[in-house]
Amino acid sequence: MAAEVLAGAGVDVVVFERMPSPGRKLLRAGRGGLNLTHSEPLADLLGRYGPARDRLAPAIEAFDPTALRAWCASLGLDTMVGSSGRVFPVGLRAAPLLRAWLRRLDSLGVELRLGHRWDGWTPTGALRMTDAAGATSAVEADAVVLALGGGSWSRLGSDGAWVEPVATTGIEVAPLRPANCGFVVPWSATFSERFEGVPLKDVVLSHEDVTARGDAVVTRTGLEGGAVYAVSRSLRDALDAGRDATLRVDLRPDQTVAELADRLRRRRPKDSQATAMRRGARFQPVDIGLLREATGNRLPDEPEELARLAKGLEVTVAATEALDRAISTAGGIALDEVDDTFMLRRRPGTFVAGEMLDWEAPTGGYLLQATFSSAVAAAKGALSWVGRPMP
Ligand SMILES: Cc1cc2nc3c(=O)[nH]c(=O)nc-3n(C[C@H](O)[C@H](O)[C@H](O)COP(=O)(O)OP(=O)(O)OC[C@H]3O[C@@H](n4cnc5c(N)ncnc54)[C@H](O)[C@@H]3O)c2cc1C
Repeated sequence: MAAEVLAGAGVDVVVFERMPSPGRKLLRAGRGGLNLTHSEPLADLLGRYGPARDRLAPAIEAFDPTALRAWCASLGLDTMVGSSGRVFPVGLRAAPLLRAWLRRLDSLGVELRLGHRWDGWTPTGALRMTDAAGATSAVEADAVVLALGGGSWSRLGSDGAWVEPVATTGIEVAPLRPANCGFVVPWSATFSERFEGVPLKDVVLSHEDVTARGDAVVTRTGLEGGAVYAVSRSLRDALDAGRDATLRVDLRPDQTVAELADRLRRRRPKDSQATAMRRGARFQPVDIGLLREATGNRLPDEPEELARLAKGLEVTVAATEALDRAISTAGGIALDEVDDTFMLRRRPGTFVAGEMLDWEAPTGGYLLQATFSSAVAAAKGALSWVGRPMP
């Protein structure tokens, strides 16, 4: 995005990308439909960035969801608003968008040098590059935009290896941490073997004052999925601070304890408890498994007690899943290290955009929105730095 803005203003642009092809994470995001941004009012959208709100707001206001959708349309892909207010390209795929985008960059004269890894700065301040064959070179530029991503899904390219060369120059980098991540739960072997990959459908998860409704998927080692990601920041911060990391699960958010107990009482004389739970209260095997797991396989006989348990099940979380498995990354270059144009204060002429910066947001299109907006802002900063008029 930064390359497009710069090349559109007539600047010669070279993009160095360490992988053999560009945009791999964007393509992977396309498997989930490519949620580009969100259609909620801008004030609500800005609130999703938490403590980074004020620093990101000018960039997002300047290149807002409407501008992002217009940009997408200019590449020949209309966007649509899903039922949750999330915005996707029609067709829900990233590949057509990326293809059209690369064609545009090519027509603007942007040169793409694939298989080139940035390893830091040379003593004279040039960019130290290593190509796929291991040959190193020093690259000089009038302005540089670093957009090297976070540290998750490293096989797609962003491995966070930039932290070391950046931090050793004295630039403050907050440790990279998983965001929108799953959690490790010490399941019994019986439970994880039987239910790995099975979703807990339409549950409400809560931790401290954060609540989310949606699906949570049982993994071999814990829990992941949309509702888990939505409470992940709260849980992760609690784990990091040594606070209580108990996740509360309401398996029946639309029923009161009394209503659920009533259903559980409709038990035929010959029915086992599990059969009664399935027939009367429509519990899925995974629900029952989780209830057994939480009670050491001693489900309460009394319907009201069982109902109460199902509406406030406590799952003790041991740790976050590894950063590499997270959807996004918290931490990164401290926002105080860049000025209003996203230029590194300690390295004038070098700008930073995207997940490399220390902000985080929930899923819902907020990650790509802030990435695109910060890239546009950084490119405008770079244009001004090299003395070119804005397009
Ligand atoms: C499975 C998955 C699904 C997602 N779905 C969505 C979604 O639907 N909506 C949403 O908003 N967000 C989504 N995200 C998050 C979103 O993809 C990221 O927030 C976004 O791609 C960040 O953009 P970026 O440019 O900062 O980093 P990246 O997209 O990671 O791009 C950084 C690029 O820099 C390259 N690079 C890294 N280090 C170097 C180096 N040293 N030298 C040269 N090149 C380097 C990498 O190879 C990479 O191509 C998803 C993420 C994942 C993992």
